Amino acid sequence: MNAPLPPEVLKQHLIDPEICIRCNTCEETCPVDAITHDGTNYVVDPGICNGCMACVPPCPTGSIDNWRLVLRSEAYSLQEQFGWDELPGEKPLPENLADGAPADDAAAAPSTAAVEAPVASAPSLPGASVPPWSAAHPYVNLYTHKAPATATVVGNYRVTDEDTGSDIHHIVLDFGNVPFPVLEGQSIGILPPGTDAQGRPHHARQYSLASPRDGERAGYNNLSLTVKRVTEDHQGRPARGVCSNYLCDLAKNDTVQVIGPFGNTFLMPNHAGANLVMICTGTGSAPMRAMTERYRRRIARGTNGRLMLFFGARTQRELPYFGPLMKLPRDFIDINLALSREASQPRRYVQDMIRERAADVLALLADANTCIYVCGLKGMEAGVLEALRDVVVQAGQDWSILHDALRREGRLHFETY
Ligand code: FAD
Repeated sequence: MNAPLPPEVLKQHLIDPEICIRCNTCEETCPVDAITHDGTNYVVDPGICNGCMACVPPCPTGSIDNWRLVLRSEAYSLQEQFGWDELPGEKPLPENLADGAPADDAAAAPSTAAVEAPVASAPSLPGASVPPWSAAHPYVNLYTHKAPATATVVGNYRVTDEDTGSDIHHIVLDFGNVPFPVLEGQSIGILPPGTDAQGRPHHARQYSLASPRDGERAGYNNLSLTVKRVTEDHQGRPARGVCSNYLCDLAKNDTVQVIGPFGNTFLMPNHAGANLVMICTGTGSAPMRAMTERYRRRIARGTNGRLMLFFGARTQRELPYFGPLMKLPRDFIDINLALSREASQPRRYVQDMIRERAADVLALLADANTCIYVCGLKGMEAGVLEALRDVVVQAGQDWSILHDALRREGRLHFETY
């Protein structure tokens, strides 16, 4: 067991700027708002962090799991952390504190070392922080900023109609003889070339896999991504997204630097008879395509459970992979499209469709073999949770009990950005 730290020593929580992919997961997860960021780094406020560890499991890279023993009076400030390109090494503590013994004048004081006595329980996340029990074991962080893998572009084409403002590309990357094992639901990081306004290399951007574990082309060492070209920011102002434009403009035979893979919870179940409920918008369809294709390639085995898809877009022409999706057999996948801007149709969102299909959704929720996946815009989380709750409550059942079970059993997963 760890000896308690002397009161003047802090086990300071730090984020490794070299590995962090700036996905914001830690900041969203932290129950006490100790994590913040600027245009460069994600940092932890030593005055607020209580070492509750809630942010550690959801971090896709492990960059969050860094600790330094420092004198409280010399804790690294936010300003120092914002300026880092890499983590500082361990600084030796004064000898009288290094062995964990309190200094004489502090011997009687109670230990206040936060990490030795976590005070906050894990926050109430909407989804699970564990994978389904039967998920395959994922590999993560095989390739890092310092040693990325090189992949070659073998395909890049648009999967939304040319006449729409939504430019979404299907991009196929081949790893040749470089091992890059992945599972459906995982993501990879792309290192765009060039530097940011401060002259630092651009940080990596994360993209979900759109292909199953055995490759975009079965048996090949390749994978696919679904990338939306960002031409305006979240407020609708013109903005040229660094990485999405780089990716959408790649030509065949260009090479890209890749890190990862990332993600160890948003994974599909592996056991026979497992049902998947998939709820997505836009590029959130990437992991759903990967999982659906995994099931499609196994149809002949006869072990698949049910597949139910809720897919939202403004119009059919803006819905990535619309053509191939519609060709899937109806008895293989139950497809529910929610179009919010289709002329001559009432506006419908994925949560409306979930309510319309309440009886089927309820039956699937009640089945312990069902896993639910939600991916797409951040804003959809609350609406989807509300719709699932309504379906359950209207059937006279207790949503909070079911919601807890879904999270505990790794059956409800969110990936929103
Ligand atoms: P930046 O240069 O980083 O940003 C430019 C401006 O656009 C900024 O103002 C920024 O706030 C704003 N902006 C950033 N992202 C968006 C957006 N999506 N819509 C509107 N404005 C935005 N993206 C995909 O296209 N496909 C995926 O499968 C995918 N999977 C992801 C999985 C995870 C786990 C995460 C965390 C993100 C995922 N993303 C995905 C988002 C992706 O990582 C990038 O954030 C996105 O491509 C924008 O990067 P950029 O470099 O082009 O824009």
